[in-house]
Amino acid sequence: MQYIVQFSVAKTLARKYDISLKKVFTKFSPSIKVDYLSENYKKRRIQLALYPNFKRRRKHFYNLLTASKTPFTPIYRPYNPTKQPCTLCGSNDQIRMYHRKPVSLISRPAKTVIEHMIRINRRQIPVCKRCYNSL
Ligand SMILES: [Zn+2]
Repeated sequence: MQYIVQFSVAKTLARKYDISLKKVFTKFSPSIKVDYLSENYKKRRIQLALYPNFKRRRKHFYNLLTASKTPFTPIYRPYNPTKQPCTLCGSNDQIRMYHRKPVSLISRPAKTVIEHMIRINRRQIPVCKRCYNSL
């Protein structure tokens, strides 16, 4: 698995910079270290998390499972899109979801609502009953 991931990343970089795999490994080292500047211009480094060896670690999973004193509970966010106000007029009256077709099936230029949904990369938006009937 590690070999596949390592060479997949190396081949992606080779294609991007139009260089050979050998040059990728000399430029980025075998663990593919890449230096970059973050959004606030701080120097960052990212690299593949490669295993140095494949020696069996007897207590690996035991340590993982007992590391936390409290049991892990995922954060549940009760997010109901039909509780949002209408995207078009802001009304909270009888909200329903308006769906659009995939972009490949839409003849362009489409309705302004459809173009807006494509622009914000949404397949469905909450709209009130009055707006839904006018679409
Ligand atoms: Zn509306």
